[in-house]
Amino acid sequence: MSISIDPIGVIHTPYKQKFAIPRQPGLVKSAIGEVHFTGEFNDANYLRGIEQFSHLWLLFRFHQTADQGHTPLVRPPRLGGNKKMGVFATRSTFRPNGIGMSVVKFVSVDWSNAQLTLRVKGMDLLDQTPILDIKPYVPYADSVSQAQGGYAQSAPNAMPVVFDPSVKPALLKAEQQRPKLTQLIEQVLNQDPRPAYKQPPEKVYAMSLYEFNIKWQVTEQVAHVLAIE
Ligand code: SAM
Repeated sequence: MSISIDPIGVIHTPYKQKFAIPRQPGLVKSAIGEVHFTGEFNDANYLRGIEQFSHLWLLFRFHQTADQGHTPLVRPPRLGGNKKMGVFATRSTFRPNGIGMSVVKFVSVDWSNAQLTLRVKGMDLLDQTPILDIKPYVPYADSVSQAQGGYAQSAPNAMPVVFDPSVKPALLKAEQQRPKLTQLIEQVLNQDPRPAYKQPPEKVYAMSLYEFNIKWQVTEQVAHVLAIE
């Protein structure tokens, strides 16, 4: 049996490349995304009542990796990238059907210039990710108080972040376009986005957030922001 699915829209997020996107939702709370509905779904009736829910499930397609297929075993970053687990025991992007699910915070619904927009916070999605479905998060059913989180029992410890004094002018200028960029950079780097496999010490990394290229380096387990271009 083969199933064909039509996305209901796309999400616009600050994350312009896979690198440095948080590995789960809710970790970078200040990240704001906008779902733009397309075709017949660009109709406010589809969202009537949604503002009653503080959180939503987004179901989406891992569109950037979907054509790379899947294998039965993957190496979760939480296990340092050197232990294999069954793909269905992980939240890997490389999975049959390439479907992802994330709980996000509801922010607002807006209809302007003939475009229906749903704003959400805290997503772990690449910019332009196709959205397949949206459902309300229902606490009595979706929150399981005694649940075991296996090898991912709790959120990883936050890595401290320091902005190099030379970055301040660029940051102030950037915040005129993107208020709260400082907070976003901080929360993204708190997650220590470095790949799990061994990297040269003191390597300078670059990540894209909105239209900015941000350079940073980790020394003694502290992330130092070196440049905002
Ligand atoms: N919360 C979702 C889940 O459990 O299904 C996603 C978890 S997955 C580990 C999160 C990672 O997916 C992000 O860090 C990012 O690297 C990757 N990602 C996000 N959007 C993607 C997309 N559209 N295509 C491919 N990879 C994506």
